[in-house]
Amino acid sequence: MHCPFCQHLNNRVLESRSAEAGRSIRRRRECLRCERRFTTYERIEYVPVTVIKRNDDRELFERSKVLRGIVRACEKTPVSSLAMESIVDDIEAELQQRATREVTSVEIGEMVLAKLEAKNEVAFVRFASVYRQFQGIRDFAETLSQLQNDQGDRPASGTENGQSSPYVVSA
Ligand SMILES: [Zn+2]
Repeated sequence: MHCPFCQHLNNRVLESRSAEAGRSIRRRRECLRCERRFTTYERIEYVPVTVIKRNDDRELFERSKVLRGIVRACEKTPVSSLAMESIVDDIEAELQQRATREVTSVEIGEMVLAKLEAKNEVAFVRFASVYRQFQGIRDFAETLSQLQNDQGDRPASGTENGQSSPYVVSA
């Protein structure tokens, strides 16, 4: 990194610390030639991801849009806003790791569903009903039986997936 004052290439780091709520590292540096000091920031590079929608429109991935859908599905459930944020964080991180810079809205929807399924079944069914564009009770029934099949594959875990939980979806 060139010194901004004299363009010399070598400097030493005087201090490093976490900045921007842990999203970057701030380093205080001193030029080895002119001895002036400057600051650099190091952060993870986020590459924009394009979302291809059902109608073939393209738009940039926006986490707020994904979060909005999740918040709506999780209304009046015990899913905390922190948990909702972390679903979006996970999805964003997964998208960043992929080799391709494009994702379909269908894939994103399925990613959200996979994560909601583990958190709350009411939120899962609500999200599925909007995202999979349920037309009627048959669509609900199919999703519910899929949910039950998925849970049957898993080892029983406490009461969370208890048989008594009502599959009621209220508006
Ligand atoms: Zn310098």
